[in-house]
Amino acid sequence: MNSFAGPVAGAAPIVADKGPMIDPFGRAVTYLRVSVTDRCDFRCTYCMAENMTFLPKKDLLTLEELNRLCSTFISKGVRKIRLTGGEPLVRKNIMFLVRELGQHVKAGALDELTLTTNGSQLAKYADELFDSGVRRINVSLDTLNPEKFKAITRWGDFHKVMEGIDAAQRAGLKIKLNAVALKDFNEFEIADMLRFAHGRGMDMTVIETMPMGEIDEDRTDQYLPLSKLRADLEEQFTLTDIPYKTGGPARYVEVKETGGRLGFITPMTHNFCESCNRVRLTCTGTLYMCLGQNDAADLRTALRASESDDYLSAAIDEAITRKPKGHDFIIDRTHKRPAVARHMSVTGG
Ligand code: SAM
Ligand code: SF4
Repeated sequence: MNSFAGPVAGAAPIVADKGPMIDPFGRAVTYLRVSVTDRCDFRCTYCMAENMTFLPKKDLLTLEELNRLCSTFISKGVRKIRLTGGEPLVRKNIMFLVRELGQHVKAGALDELTLTTNGSQLAKYADELFDSGVRRINVSLDTLNPEKFKAITRWGDFHKVMEGIDAAQRAGLKIKLNAVALKDFNEFEIADMLRFAHGRGMDMTVIETMPMGEIDEDRTDQYLPLSKLRADLEEQFTLTDIPYKTGGPARYVEVKETGGRLGFITPMTHNFCESCNRVRLTCTGTLYMCLGQNDAADLRTALRASESDDYLSAAIDEAITRKPKGHDFIIDRTHKRPAVARHMSVTGG
Protein backbone atom coordinates (compact mmCIF):
# COMPACT_ATOMS: atom_id res chain seq x y z
CA MET A 1 0.00 0.00 0.00
CA ASN A 2 1.35 3.43 -0.98
CA SER A 3 0.24 6.34 1.09
CA PHE A 4 1.49 9.56 2.56
CA ALA A 5 0.33 11.69 5.39
CA GLY A 6 -0.02 15.42 5.48
CA PRO A 7 -1.49 18.13 3.33
CA VAL A 8 0.26 19.50 0.24
CA ALA A 9 0.19 23.20 -0.51
CA GLY A 10 -1.53 23.85 -3.83
CA ALA A 11 -2.44 20.22 -4.52
CA ALA A 12 -5.15 17.92 -3.26
CA PRO A 13 -3.74 15.31 -0.88
CA ILE A 14 -3.30 12.01 -2.66
CA VAL A 15 -3.49 8.60 -1.12
CA ALA A 16 -2.77 5.59 -3.30
CA ASP A 17 -4.78 3.08 -1.35
CA LYS A 18 -5.06 0.19 -3.79
CA GLY A 19 -1.40 -0.52 -4.48
CA PRO A 20 0.05 -0.24 -7.98
CA MET A 21 -1.86 -0.98 -11.17
CA ILE A 22 -1.04 -4.46 -12.48
CA ASP A 23 -1.21 -5.27 -16.18
CA PRO A 24 -2.33 -8.63 -17.65
CA PHE A 25 1.26 -9.88 -17.62
CA GLY A 26 1.72 -9.19 -13.93
CA ARG A 27 3.82 -6.05 -14.40
CA ALA A 28 3.21 -3.17 -11.97
CA VAL A 29 2.70 0.13 -13.78
CA THR A 30 4.51 2.68 -11.63
CA TYR A 31 6.09 4.98 -14.18
CA LEU A 32 4.30 7.60 -16.28
CA ARG A 33 5.99 9.47 -19.09
CA VAL A 34 4.21 12.60 -20.19
CA SER A 35 4.82 14.31 -23.49
CA VAL A 36 3.78 17.85 -22.60
CA THR A 37 4.11 19.18 -26.15
CA ASP A 38 4.85 17.73 -29.58
CA ARG A 39 6.73 20.90 -30.52
CA CYS A 40 10.46 21.39 -30.38
CA ASP A 41 13.09 24.04 -31.06
CA PHE A 42 15.32 21.39 -32.72
CA ARG A 43 14.69 19.12 -35.71
CA CYS A 44 16.94 16.13 -35.01
CA THR A 45 17.20 14.17 -38.24
CA TYR A 46 16.34 10.79 -36.67
CA CYS A 47 13.35 12.22 -34.82
CA MET A 48 11.57 14.71 -37.06
CA ALA A 49 11.24 15.81 -40.63
CA GLU A 50 12.33 19.43 -41.15
CA ASN A 51 8.82 20.52 -42.08
CA MET A 52 6.76 19.06 -39.30
CA THR A 53 3.07 19.69 -38.90
CA PHE A 54 2.35 20.07 -35.22
CA LEU A 55 -0.92 19.72 -33.39
CA PRO A 56 -3.17 22.77 -33.33
CA LYS A 57 -2.69 24.39 -29.91
CA LYS A 58 -6.42 24.03 -29.20
CA ASP A 59 -6.08 20.23 -29.17
CA LEU A 60 -3.64 20.29 -26.29
CA LEU A 61 -4.70 19.58 -22.77
CA THR A 62 -4.19 22.58 -20.53
CA LEU A 63 -1.46 22.35 -17.93
CA GLU A 64 -4.19 22.17 -15.28
CA GLU A 65 -5.68 19.16 -17.07
CA LEU A 66 -2.28 17.49 -17.37
CA ASN A 67 -1.79 18.09 -13.67
CA ARG A 68 -5.13 16.47 -12.89
CA LEU A 69 -4.31 13.48 -15.07
CA CYS A 70 -0.88 13.04 -13.48
CA SER A 71 -2.37 13.37 -9.99
CA THR A 72 -4.89 10.63 -10.81
CA PHE A 73 -2.04 8.36 -11.93
CA ILE A 74 -0.20 9.11 -8.68
CA SER A 75 -3.30 8.17 -6.71
CA LYS A 76 -3.27 4.88 -8.65
CA GLY A 77 0.25 4.00 -7.60
CA VAL A 78 2.51 5.76 -10.09
CA ARG A 79 5.76 6.63 -8.28
CA LYS A 80 7.79 8.24 -11.03
CA ILE A 81 6.87 10.84 -13.63
CA ARG A 82 9.04 11.98 -16.50
CA LEU A 83 8.15 15.05 -18.52
CA THR A 84 9.26 14.85 -22.10
CA GLY A 85 8.10 15.92 -25.54
CA GLY A 86 8.87 17.38 -28.11
CA GLU A 87 10.93 19.66 -25.96
CA PRO A 88 9.21 19.92 -22.58
CA LEU A 89 10.87 23.23 -21.69
CA VAL A 90 9.45 25.05 -24.73
CA ARG A 91 5.86 24.57 -23.57
CA LYS A 92 4.57 27.92 -22.34
CA ASN A 93 4.38 28.16 -18.55
CA ILE A 94 5.66 24.58 -18.13
CA MET A 95 7.04 25.50 -14.72
CA PHE A 96 3.48 25.62 -13.41
CA LEU A 97 3.16 21.87 -14.02
CA VAL A 98 6.65 21.17 -12.68
CA ARG A 99 5.90 23.06 -9.47
CA GLU A 100 2.53 21.34 -9.01
CA LEU A 101 3.97 17.85 -9.54
CA GLY A 102 6.97 18.72 -7.41
CA GLN A 103 4.58 19.11 -4.47
CA HIS A 104 3.84 15.38 -4.68
CA VAL A 105 7.56 14.64 -4.44
CA LYS A 106 7.89 16.88 -1.42
CA ALA A 107 4.89 15.13 0.15
CA GLY A 108 6.31 11.67 -0.51
CA ALA A 109 3.52 10.59 -2.89
CA LEU A 110 5.94 10.53 -5.83
CA ASP A 111 9.48 9.13 -5.64
CA GLU A 112 10.75 11.08 -8.58
CA LEU A 113 9.84 13.89 -10.94
CA THR A 114 12.27 14.16 -13.79
CA LEU A 115 12.52 15.29 -17.38
CA THR A 116 14.22 14.57 -20.66
CA THR A 117 15.38 17.69 -22.42
CA ASN A 118 17.55 18.79 -25.31
CA GLY A 119 19.15 21.26 -22.92
CA SER A 120 18.46 24.39 -24.95
CA GLN A 121 16.41 26.08 -22.20
CA LEU A 122 18.23 24.67 -19.18
CA ALA A 123 20.24 27.78 -18.43
CA LYS A 124 16.94 29.58 -17.91
CA TYR A 125 15.16 26.92 -15.85
CA ALA A 126 17.80 24.90 -13.96
CA ASP A 127 17.42 26.65 -10.59
CA GLU A 128 13.64 26.55 -10.70
CA LEU A 129 13.64 22.86 -11.60
CA PHE A 130 15.78 22.10 -8.58
CA ASP A 131 13.65 24.26 -6.29
CA SER A 132 10.53 22.41 -7.51
CA GLY A 133 11.92 19.05 -6.40
CA VAL A 134 13.58 17.79 -9.59
CA ARG A 135 16.91 16.14 -8.76
CA ARG A 136 17.94 14.25 -11.89
CA ILE A 137 17.43 15.05 -15.56
CA ASN A 138 18.35 13.43 -18.86
CA VAL A 139 19.96 15.65 -21.45
CA SER A 140 20.06 14.40 -25.01
CA LEU A 141 23.36 15.07 -26.74
CA ASP A 142 24.63 13.17 -29.77
CA THR A 143 27.98 14.86 -30.40
CA LEU A 144 30.52 17.22 -28.84
CA ASN A 145 31.35 18.81 -32.17
CA PRO A 146 29.42 22.09 -32.73
CA GLU A 147 29.23 21.66 -36.52
CA LYS A 148 28.05 18.06 -36.27
CA PHE A 149 25.60 19.17 -33.60
CA LYS A 150 24.14 21.67 -36.04
CA ALA A 151 23.94 18.99 -38.72
CA ILE A 152 22.10 16.45 -36.55
CA THR A 153 19.73 18.88 -34.75
CA ARG A 154 19.33 21.13 -37.82
CA TRP A 155 18.30 24.09 -35.60
CA GLY A 156 20.22 23.60 -32.38
CA ASP A 157 23.01 25.70 -30.86
CA PHE A 158 25.66 23.53 -29.20
CA HIS A 159 26.99 26.33 -26.99
CA LYS A 160 23.55 27.01 -25.54
CA VAL A 161 23.24 23.35 -24.59
CA MET A 162 26.67 23.43 -22.94
CA GLU A 163 25.62 26.52 -20.97
CA GLY A 164 22.49 24.64 -19.97
CA ILE A 165 24.49 21.64 -18.73
CA ASP A 166 26.76 23.98 -16.74
CA ALA A 167 23.76 25.73 -15.18
CA ALA A 168 22.05 22.45 -14.31
CA GLN A 169 25.14 21.10 -12.58
CA ARG A 170 25.60 24.38 -10.69
CA ALA A 171 21.96 24.15 -9.57
CA GLY A 172 22.62 20.68 -8.14
CA LEU A 173 20.80 18.61 -10.78
CA LYS A 174 22.33 15.24 -11.58
CA ILE A 175 22.57 14.74 -15.33
CA LYS A 176 22.54 11.65 -17.47
CA LEU A 177 23.59 12.23 -21.06
CA ASN A 178 21.59 10.31 -23.66
CA ALA A 179 23.14 9.80 -27.07
CA VAL A 180 21.45 8.10 -29.98
CA ALA A 181 24.03 5.84 -31.64
CA LEU A 182 24.15 6.71 -35.32
CA LYS A 183 26.17 4.91 -37.94
CA ASP A 184 28.75 7.14 -39.69
CA PHE A 185 27.83 10.01 -37.40
CA ASN A 186 28.94 9.47 -33.83
CA GLU A 187 29.96 5.83 -33.68
CA PHE A 188 33.63 6.72 -33.25
CA GLU A 189 32.91 9.68 -31.01
CA ILE A 190 31.12 7.81 -28.23
CA ALA A 191 34.45 7.10 -26.49
CA ASP A 192 35.20 10.84 -26.25
CA MET A 193 31.67 11.58 -25.11
CA LEU A 194 32.04 8.96 -22.41
CA ARG A 195 35.24 10.59 -21.15
CA PHE A 196 33.52 13.99 -21.22
CA ALA A 197 30.43 12.76 -19.36
CA HIS A 198 32.28 10.78 -16.73
CA GLY A 199 34.86 13.54 -16.35
CA ARG A 200 32.02 15.83 -15.29
CA GLY A 201 30.31 13.33 -13.03
CA MET A 202 27.50 12.47 -15.45
CA ASP A 203 26.29 8.99 -16.34
CA MET A 204 25.75 8.29 -20.00
CA THR A 205 23.36 6.11 -21.97
CA VAL A 206 23.49 5.17 -25.62
CA ILE A 207 20.27 4.40 -27.45
CA GLU A 208 19.62 2.51 -30.66
CA THR A 209 17.50 4.33 -33.23
CA MET A 210 13.89 3.22 -33.30
CA PRO A 211 11.72 3.22 -36.42
CA MET A 212 9.15 5.81 -35.39
CA GLY A 213 7.50 8.29 -37.75
CA GLU A 214 8.37 9.40 -41.24
CA ILE A 215 11.65 11.32 -41.36
CA ASP A 216 13.61 12.72 -44.29
CA GLU A 217 16.33 10.04 -44.14
CA ASP A 218 16.60 6.30 -44.62
CA ARG A 219 16.64 4.65 -41.20
CA THR A 220 18.68 1.69 -42.35
CA ASP A 221 21.50 4.19 -43.03
CA GLN A 222 21.35 5.43 -39.43
CA TYR A 223 20.94 2.18 -37.55
CA LEU A 224 23.96 1.11 -35.50
CA PRO A 225 23.55 -2.03 -33.39
CA LEU A 226 24.85 -1.38 -29.90
CA SER A 227 26.47 -4.82 -29.85
CA LYS A 228 28.92 -3.42 -32.43
CA LEU A 229 29.38 -0.18 -30.50
CA ARG A 230 30.09 -2.11 -27.33
CA ALA A 231 32.67 -4.29 -29.07
CA ASP A 232 34.41 -1.14 -30.40
CA LEU A 233 34.39 0.49 -26.96
CA GLU A 234 35.86 -2.64 -25.42
CA GLU A 235 39.01 -2.06 -27.46
CA GLN A 236 39.61 1.07 -25.36
CA PHE A 237 37.76 0.47 -22.10
CA THR A 238 37.16 -2.31 -19.63
CA LEU A 239 33.38 -2.69 -19.37
CA THR A 240 31.87 -4.74 -16.57
CA ASP A 241 28.14 -5.55 -16.47
CA ILE A 242 26.55 -4.28 -13.27
CA PRO A 243 23.02 -4.77 -11.90
CA TYR A 244 22.48 -0.97 -11.51
CA LYS A 245 18.89 0.06 -12.40
CA THR A 246 17.17 3.43 -12.70
CA GLY A 247 13.71 2.03 -13.36
CA GLY A 248 14.28 2.30 -17.11
CA PRO A 249 15.22 -0.22 -19.79
CA ALA A 250 18.96 0.56 -19.81
CA ARG A 251 21.46 -2.16 -18.96
CA TYR A 252 24.53 -0.72 -17.33
CA VAL A 253 28.22 -1.39 -17.38
CA GLU A 254 30.90 0.15 -15.23
CA VAL A 255 33.80 1.67 -17.13
CA LYS A 256 36.98 0.86 -15.24
CA GLU A 257 39.11 3.58 -16.81
CA THR A 258 36.69 6.45 -16.04
CA GLY A 259 34.97 5.08 -12.94
CA GLY A 260 31.58 6.01 -14.46
CA ARG A 261 28.54 4.12 -15.69
CA LEU A 262 27.41 3.58 -19.26
CA GLY A 263 23.90 2.39 -20.11
CA PHE A 264 22.78 0.62 -23.27
CA ILE A 265 19.17 0.88 -24.45
CA THR A 266 18.71 -1.72 -27.11
CA PRO A 267 15.09 -1.95 -28.22
CA MET A 268 16.14 -3.44 -31.55
CA THR A 269 18.65 -6.06 -30.50
CA HIS A 270 17.38 -6.96 -27.07
CA ASN A 271 13.80 -7.19 -25.96
CA PHE A 272 13.40 -5.30 -22.70
CA CYS A 273 9.61 -5.56 -22.61
CA GLU A 274 9.31 -8.21 -19.92
CA SER A 275 10.19 -5.71 -17.19
CA CYS A 276 8.26 -2.76 -18.67
CA ASN A 277 6.69 -0.68 -15.89
CA ARG A 278 5.56 2.35 -17.85
CA VAL A 279 2.81 3.96 -19.86
CA ARG A 280 2.97 7.12 -21.96
CA LEU A 281 0.61 10.04 -22.02
CA THR A 282 0.55 12.54 -24.87
CA CYS A 283 -0.25 16.24 -24.63
CA THR A 284 -3.73 15.54 -26.04
CA GLY A 285 -4.55 13.04 -23.31
CA THR A 286 -3.98 9.86 -25.32
CA LEU A 287 -2.46 7.06 -23.32
CA TYR A 288 -0.13 4.66 -25.13
CA MET A 289 0.42 1.46 -23.23
CA CYS A 290 3.49 0.61 -25.35
CA LEU A 291 5.96 2.83 -27.25
CA GLY A 292 6.10 0.33 -30.08
CA GLN A 293 2.38 -0.35 -30.58
CA ASN A 294 -0.50 1.73 -31.90
CA ASP A 295 -3.18 0.77 -29.41
CA ALA A 296 -4.14 3.73 -27.22
CA ALA A 297 -6.79 4.99 -24.82
CA ASP A 298 -8.46 8.38 -24.99
CA LEU A 299 -8.25 9.86 -21.51
CA ARG A 300 -9.20 13.37 -22.59
CA THR A 301 -12.84 12.41 -23.05
CA ALA A 302 -12.88 10.67 -19.69
CA LEU A 303 -11.17 13.65 -18.07
CA ARG A 304 -13.63 16.16 -19.48
CA ALA A 305 -16.71 14.00 -18.95
CA SER A 306 -16.91 14.64 -15.25
CA GLU A 307 -15.39 16.76 -12.54
CA SER A 308 -15.04 13.69 -10.38
CA ASP A 309 -12.01 11.52 -11.12
CA ASP A 310 -13.97 8.24 -10.93
CA TYR A 311 -14.66 8.06 -14.65
CA LEU A 312 -11.05 8.90 -15.46
CA SER A 313 -9.82 6.32 -12.99
CA ALA A 314 -11.99 3.64 -14.61
CA ALA A 315 -10.73 4.62 -18.08
CA ILE A 316 -7.13 4.24 -16.86
CA ASP A 317 -7.91 0.81 -15.36
CA GLU A 318 -9.45 -0.30 -18.65
CA ALA A 319 -6.40 0.94 -20.59
CA ILE A 320 -4.00 -0.99 -18.34
CA THR A 321 -5.86 -4.21 -19.15
CA ARG A 322 -4.78 -3.60 -22.76
CA LYS A 323 -1.06 -3.15 -22.09
CA PRO A 324 0.56 -5.50 -24.62
CA LYS A 325 3.30 -7.96 -23.92
CA GLY A 326 5.83 -6.15 -26.09
CA HIS A 327 6.70 -4.26 -29.26
CA ASP A 328 7.50 -5.41 -32.80
CA PHE A 329 10.19 -2.96 -33.87
CA ILE A 330 12.20 -4.05 -36.86
CA ILE A 331 14.50 -2.13 -39.20
CA ASP A 332 15.69 -3.84 -42.33
CA ARG A 333 15.75 -3.28 -46.04
CA THR A 334 12.35 -4.85 -46.57
CA HIS A 335 10.68 -2.70 -43.90
CA LYS A 336 11.25 0.81 -45.23
CA ARG A 337 8.17 2.16 -43.51
CA PRO A 338 8.35 3.09 -39.84
CA ALA A 339 7.09 0.33 -37.52
CA VAL A 340 5.03 2.96 -35.74
CA ALA A 341 3.74 5.91 -37.73
CA ARG A 342 3.74 8.49 -34.96
CA HIS A 343 6.95 10.39 -34.27
CA MET A 344 8.92 9.92 -31.09
CA SER A 345 8.06 13.54 -30.24
CA VAL A 346 4.41 12.49 -29.78
CA THR A 347 5.10 9.91 -27.08
CA GLY A 348 8.42 11.31 -25.95
CA GLY A 349 10.69 8.26 -26.19
N1 SAM B 1 13.35 16.90 -26.80
C1 SAM B 1 13.78 16.14 -25.69
C2 SAM B 1 15.12 15.51 -25.94
O1 SAM B 1 15.55 15.48 -27.09
O2 SAM B 1 15.72 15.04 -24.99
C3 SAM B 1 12.80 15.09 -25.24
C4 SAM B 1 12.06 14.32 -26.28
S1 SAM B 1 13.04 13.29 -27.33
C5 SAM B 1 11.82 12.59 -28.40
C6 SAM B 1 13.44 11.97 -26.20
C7 SAM B 1 14.59 11.09 -26.61
O3 SAM B 1 14.19 10.32 -27.73
C8 SAM B 1 15.86 11.84 -27.01
O4 SAM B 1 16.95 11.34 -26.26
C9 SAM B 1 16.03 11.50 -28.47
O5 SAM B 1 17.38 11.44 -28.82
C10 SAM B 1 15.33 10.18 -28.56
N2 SAM B 1 14.83 9.84 -29.89
C11 SAM B 1 14.11 10.59 -30.75
N3 SAM B 1 13.81 9.90 -31.88
C12 SAM B 1 14.36 8.68 -31.73
C13 SAM B 1 14.40 7.51 -32.54
N4 SAM B 1 13.80 7.44 -33.72
N5 SAM B 1 15.08 6.43 -32.04
C14 SAM B 1 15.68 6.47 -30.83
N6 SAM B 1 15.66 7.53 -30.02
C15 SAM B 1 15.02 8.63 -30.47
FE1 SF4 C 1 13.37 17.72 -30.51
FE2 SF4 C 1 14.16 15.87 -28.82
FE3 SF4 C 1 13.15 15.17 -31.22
FE4 SF4 C 1 15.53 16.34 -31.11
S1 SF4 C 1 14.99 14.35 -30.24
S2 SF4 C 1 13.84 16.89 -32.51
S3 SF4 C 1 15.33 17.70 -29.42
S4 SF4 C 1 12.06 16.15 -29.60
